[in-house]
Amino acid sequence: MKIYNTLARRKEEFATRDPGTAGIYVCGPTVYGLIHVGNARPYVFFAVLARYLRSIGYDVKLVENITDIDDKIIERANHEGMAPGRLAAAFSRAYVDDTLKFGLERPDVEPKATEHIQEIIDHCRRLVDTGMAYESGGSVYFRVDRFAGYGKLSGQKTGQMKHCELVREGEAKESPLDFAVWKASKPGEPSWESPWGPGRPGWHIECTAMSLKYLGQSFDIHGGGRDLIFPHHENEIAQAEAVSGGGFARGWMHVGMITTKEEKMSKSVGNIFLLREFLKQYDPRVLILFFMGAHYRSPLEFSEVNLEEAAGRLERFKNCFWKVDSVIGETAAAAAPPEGRLLEDSIGLTAQQFEAEMQDDVNTAGALAALFGLVRSINEYAELASAAGSADAGLLGRASDLLRRLLGILGVEITEADYAGKAAPQELLDLVALREQARREKDFAAADAARDRIAAAGYEIRDTPTGPKLVKK
Ligand SMILES: [Zn+2]
Repeated sequence: MKIYNTLARRKEEFATRDPGTAGIYVCGPTVYGLIHVGNARPYVFFAVLARYLRSIGYDVKLVENITDIDDKIIERANHEGMAPGRLAAAFSRAYVDDTLKFGLERPDVEPKATEHIQEIIDHCRRLVDTGMAYESGGSVYFRVDRFAGYGKLSGQKTGQMKHCELVREGEAKESPLDFAVWKASKPGEPSWESPWGPGRPGWHIECTAMSLKYLGQSFDIHGGGRDLIFPHHENEIAQAEAVSGGGFARGWMHVGMITTKEEKMSKSVGNIFLLREFLKQYDPRVLILFFMGAHYRSPLEFSEVNLEEAAGRLERFKNCFWKVDSVIGETAAAAAPPEGRLLEDSIGLTAQQFEAEMQDDVNTAGALAALFGLVRSINEYAELASAAGSADAGLLGRASDLLRRLLGILGVEITEADYAGKAAPQELLDLVALREQARREKDFAAADAARDRIAAAGYEIRDTPTGPKLVKK
């Protein structure tokens, strides 16, 4: 399998630290507000990657953190006149609720920063002990110019970065490039006791400490949105490798931004679409199919047209499963089923193409195209079977099972509930029952009247071995 590594700037053969297992750390939300659809893209993508790796035999550990202490949380809490801890707890629950409603399974570990203060302080202490960080005014800063590898992920040169870290009031840093790993707390702010006085962790150190705790040195994949490459991920590397001298994450994967009118969706731009608002209007699978339709590294435009296209994809999948069920139900086993070689070939080919696309840097757009090839073959066979009045149920079953399994890896589940009653509205199904009863009672006039009303609605009744079925004319 090949995966594009941001650090190497090319696709590399995916080889894990421990054969057969894969450790993945993904930067989760900073819980100071509700998440929007742009936030959801990396969560969906890494869930797909984890499911795919499991499907090919890896034992996967997916760690996705919740940043529940940060400047933004304190700012918003002050603004709302609320305790930061309470605000973070409320938005952290909202995040879990929204993602569950969205159909995302929980990661294997979902650590919160405030539950790892000891690990964070220990890491800061090691940085200070080795001279890679220093205390100043109760805060601890990382000495960027002591870490030779600084800039290797983002490609930034320290010489050109002079002004990227603003010096804030009360900060006494040796160099403007230095960043805080531990922040002295102001009165009224949440704080924890530390060797440097009461304070709280900087954002970057939280992820370094938690990823190392759950996955260990040189873990396999560190991921997140593209916007985290600098400074967040660059700083995570510096903090980790300054202590260990060795590797932090072996591979770095970054997911492209969701844009509206070609501008990144973000709270600061003000063009966000909250996930929970989205779910009021759309089926969650529409958003998943929208994400899957593009390569994960590409930016993706959130537009009505693109969402409609994704909704159309979902309908095509539903129709396909419905067709399989109805053609198996409506045809008798008596006649000879049509020749199934083309569908048989398509099953083999689809499985192969899906694998090849997923192995090529998780190309879900290509994988989706492979699935639509199978949908076409199933539909064609179903048409032939319907005309012949006989279907090879085993063959259709194998085709739809494969489709269901591969769609499941992409996070899309289609159940009978999606198309039950699709053949006919409930009132028509009631008429079928009425006609059956009338026939049993030999009231043929009533039976014919029911049949005529069904016909007028565009359906016909077919008597099959498993009872009468409605089929659209
Ligand atoms: Zn992070």
